[in-house]
Amino acid sequence: MDITHATLKELSTQLQSGALTSEQIVTVFLKQIETHNTELKALLGVAEDALDQAKTIDARRKAGESLHPLAGIPIVLKDNILVKGWKATAGSKMLENYHASYDATVVTRLRQAGMILLGRANMDEFAMGSSTENSFFGPTKNPWDTRKVSGGSSGGSIVSVAAGFAPVALGSDTGGSVRQPASLCGIVGLKPTYGRVSRFGLMALGSSLDQISVATKTVEDAAMLLQVIEGEDKKDATTSVLEETTIPALLEPSVKGLRLGVPKEYFVEGMDSEVKSCVEEAIEQLKIAGAEIVEVSLPHTPYAIATYYLIQMSEASSNLGRYDGVRYGYSSQAGTLKQSYEQTRETGFGAEVKRRILLGTFALSAGYYDAYYKKASQVRTLIKQDFDQAFTQVDALLTPTSPSVAWNLGEKFEDPLAMYLSDIYTVSVNLATVPALSLPCGFAHDLPVGLQVIARPFDEQMLYRVGMTYQTMTDWHTKTSFV
Ligand code: GLN
Repeated sequence: MDITHATLKELSTQLQSGALTSEQIVTVFLKQIETHNTELKALLGVAEDALDQAKTIDARRKAGESLHPLAGIPIVLKDNILVKGWKATAGSKMLENYHASYDATVVTRLRQAGMILLGRANMDEFAMGSSTENSFFGPTKNPWDTRKVSGGSSGGSIVSVAAGFAPVALGSDTGGSVRQPASLCGIVGLKPTYGRVSRFGLMALGSSLDQISVATKTVEDAAMLLQVIEGEDKKDATTSVLEETTIPALLEPSVKGLRLGVPKEYFVEGMDSEVKSCVEEAIEQLKIAGAEIVEVSLPHTPYAIATYYLIQMSEASSNLGRYDGVRYGYSSQAGTLKQSYEQTRETGFGAEVKRRILLGTFALSAGYYDAYYKKASQVRTLIKQDFDQAFTQVDALLTPTSPSVAWNLGEKFEDPLAMYLSDIYTVSVNLATVPALSLPCGFAHDLPVGLQVIARPFDEQMLYRVGMTYQTMTDWHTKTSFV
């Protein structure tokens, strides 16, 4: 078996039967990282104790302890998720030497399951971006073509899975940051419903939008991993109490009798025609599998980008106020305290972060709040109502994840607006707080294309049904890049 491209499920089976040890698995992944990470720059750091963690799990298994099915399997974490004692840079100079003092709730749960915390993944600075080029540490490259961007902001997490550095990874998705790079790199990305996964220990970007999300090779793997990290957490008041369900009960690969909606506003000009054909073919497959395909309308879609960026920048400007050179990370001392703040923030943050703090502060300021932030919040409600309305007619929605395939490194770097527009199909999902999945559905211009499935709040099971059905009929998810 090729361990680097095995699924979570396959590795779990091998570990439980004793055919493989965790140490063997981790050794293979470390080798793959060593060979390819210099070029791809998916990881910013590898856990020094990865093999020790693996040996501990192997010893516990040998001693006859009954372990979680995912015990001994490595996972990569985006570098804005805190692991006690590890560096957590959020891709920023501001936190270049910052070490986390506690574990995020998701990390506590991964540890309880016995998963191996393998490394820290590269990302756009503070998760602001769609290409991972905004990382202070340099861009992550697309393993299908290293001249192309990986997508972002969770490019490092996604490429780690696509390039066989780890079978699964966690990222964060505020406006598409897991689904969009998953689409551009040919893997599965799932953003859960807002409130399903605790954000305690995730560095805040847009607090009303952020959700820790999973990157995997298959939909089934996404379901297995999400089950480990989800659920109520007293340390994050937005989390919900979830019904107890078992994985087999959640996974039903059939769409017979389902009504799947195709939003007409999502297939308009500006979209790459080859991407469009791939997505249309995927929709056709689901029709063949027994779903009824229905055209629906999400009429406020044209306002989604403006609404999202106003809200996100406003919330980010407030969340990033804590980086003052006094309490966290980088500090540049100048004459007065005020000058120290200014110099720290001037030199510690990159251009995109500063742009967003300025715009967000403006949108929240007295005299402009009503015209910008408040207005955006009102439009957000209308966007949410579009989804509510659509879900009275259909069980799930099918859309492209990204209007194009991966673009050239540098191509949109100097043009923030072009970069923002590439998020057109993902941001509404966060505004509406609904769950969504991106899964590979073919190739355009020799690069991967993603199909997005969107469901009602807390109906991740519907995403699994549609996604698994598609993956039992097609083999796009088994294709691997050159590495
Ligand atoms: N590309 C989007 C942005 O730059 C999404 C970022 C994210 O989801 N973290 O805001």
